[in-house]
Amino acid sequence: MREAEVIIIGAGPAGLGAAVEAAKYGCGSVVVFDENRSCGGQLIKQLHKFFGSAEHQAGVRGFVLGQKLEEEALSLGVRIMTNSVVWGVFRENKLGVFTSDGKVQQWGFKKLIIATGAMENALAFSGWTLPGVMGAGACQTMMNMHRVLPGKRVLMVGSGNVGLIVTYQLLQAGAEQVTVIEAAPSIGGYGVHAAKIARAGVPILCSHTITEAIGPNGYVEKAVIQKLDEQWQPIPGTETELDVDMICLSVGLSPLVELARLAQCRMAYLPTLGGYVPIHDQNMRTSEPDVYVAGDLAGVEEASTALDEGRLAGVAVAEALGHPSADAAEAEKGAIRLRLRNLRSGSYGDKRQAGKENLMGRMSE
Ligand SMILES: Cc1cc2nc3c(=O)[nH]c(=O)nc-3n(C[C@H](O)[C@H](O)[C@H](O)COP(=O)(O)OP(=O)(O)OC[C@H]3O[C@@H](n4cnc5c(N)ncnc54)[C@H](O)[C@@H]3O)c2cc1C
Repeated sequence: MREAEVIIIGAGPAGLGAAVEAAKYGCGSVVVFDENRSCGGQLIKQLHKFFGSAEHQAGVRGFVLGQKLEEEALSLGVRIMTNSVVWGVFRENKLGVFTSDGKVQQWGFKKLIIATGAMENALAFSGWTLPGVMGAGACQTMMNMHRVLPGKRVLMVGSGNVGLIVTYQLLQAGAEQVTVIEAAPSIGGYGVHAAKIARAGVPILCSHTITEAIGPNGYVEKAVIQKLDEQWQPIPGTETELDVDMICLSVGLSPLVELARLAQCRMAYLPTLGGYVPIHDQNMRTSEPDVYVAGDLAGVEEASTALDEGRLAGVAVAEALGHPSADAAEAEKGAIRLRLRNLRSGSYGDKRQAGKENLMGRMSE
């Protein structure tokens, strides 16, 4: 069996942030596994510049941030194993990995950080399994990584940040027409993104849902949308048919908690954080003392929060393994927690902050 002092599952911003800090604060062998060909997680396909403050990489393109983190981790001696899927976490601090050469390896660890991210939610309606119905993240992967425009006349279902950003990227990639619908009475994402696509002529129809995808030839050719009343019920007689060749679903993300469940971590259901999430303390440590979590898996947020949660987990495992002095670790963790608190403020952040406090409060139950 192979051994590492610290194993990290997932090379997104959370996993890479954790790896950098764990190595920087003295962990001798830090190994990161990721199922993808390259590092960065969601960042790989994010061509747009980040928003927010300079401290949180505003103005940096997502994929560039991923590359910078990878370079920093490698320069600190972190071993990154891509094309490697972790398929099980077992008792006595062991896990199983399918590696890039098609072999199964068993690894032992002293501390484990799970940073597996989140998956896209689906939405069921008549015709939802037709080719041409896909998640917004899948659409973004096709456009930005494989250079394939999956549709030219698009209905985007959902106006959160992902829906708004992917709409803009569809226009940049050559889509002729995009219509955004949103079941809530107001737009879900940041005004800055909504304004950008509105300026480009994209209609955003709030209080609307999709009721059917029509495809007599076996692929999407039309979508039926309908207005919703104040109780979110479809209003009869308001059905409208749109000529589309793609329906993009951007209806939220759910934390990828399977490995945390296998590791026996206690869970809580918190809709503001995306659903079931592992309960953790303010060091990102779960109910299992050697297992830590970070990023979207610990509550769906943003790359900036994922990166800082990863950094926090990285410092915390190094401290738990006795590397930095308690004072040095406390100073670093305090600075990271302050950044996280700032990120979780305002109308979007307050709910996430409350969710996180709820999770941490449950550690003592
Ligand atoms: C369209 C879009 C635009 C966005 N724009 C912004 C933005 O402008 N600013 C911002 O701050 N955030 C943005 N975000 C959000 C941000 O991308 C995520 O919050 C962030 O990537 C989460 O980081 P993470 O490390 O937790 O997970 P991820 O980035 O998802 O990384 C997790 C990694 O773990 C791997 N993995 C999972 N399971 C396994 C396994 N069993 N074995 C091996 N590997 C595994 C995954 O393949 C993945 O590579 C955007 C998201 C989307 C979809």
